[in-house]
Amino acid sequence: MDNCIFCKIIAGEIPSTKVYEDEKTYAFYDLNPQAKQHVLVVGKRHHNNIVEACEDSIDTVSACINTCTIVAKQLGIDKTGFRIVTNCGKDACQSVFHLHFHVIGGEKLSERMA
Ligand code: 5GP
Ligand code: ZN
Repeated sequence: MDNCIFCKIIAGEIPSTKVYEDEKTYAFYDLNPQAKQHVLVVGKRHHNNIVEACEDSIDTVSACINTCTIVAKQLGIDKTGFRIVTNCGKDACQSVFHLHFHVIGGEKLSERMA
């Protein structure tokens, strides 16, 4: 999709530090990490958010969740613990409107989630 920064990252038009890639998904380090480990997992097909993705392609959503666990194992945080977050819409402060999952860990995270 035009003017979507994550579509541009997937296409290699904007540089990113790749963590993992497969047919349906792409994972890369977040530019502004909120924990010692912070990776973004995106579907290669553009959806604005998780609601639209579930309506259009549950395959993309499940592939992203699977990739989150692959990334957690790759980062070595699958046993120590991690959080998967997707922000949807204004109240959740979503800032990039291409479905993405934050994989956050590598340290003790806040007990508070909101
Ligand atoms: P949201 O607020 O939409 O849930 O998350 C968007 C995330 O994308 C933020 O954590 C932000 O740091 C990250 N981000 C925004 N632009 C870029 C970029 O160009 N490169 C990378 N690697 N991360 C980005
Ligand atoms: Zn996009």
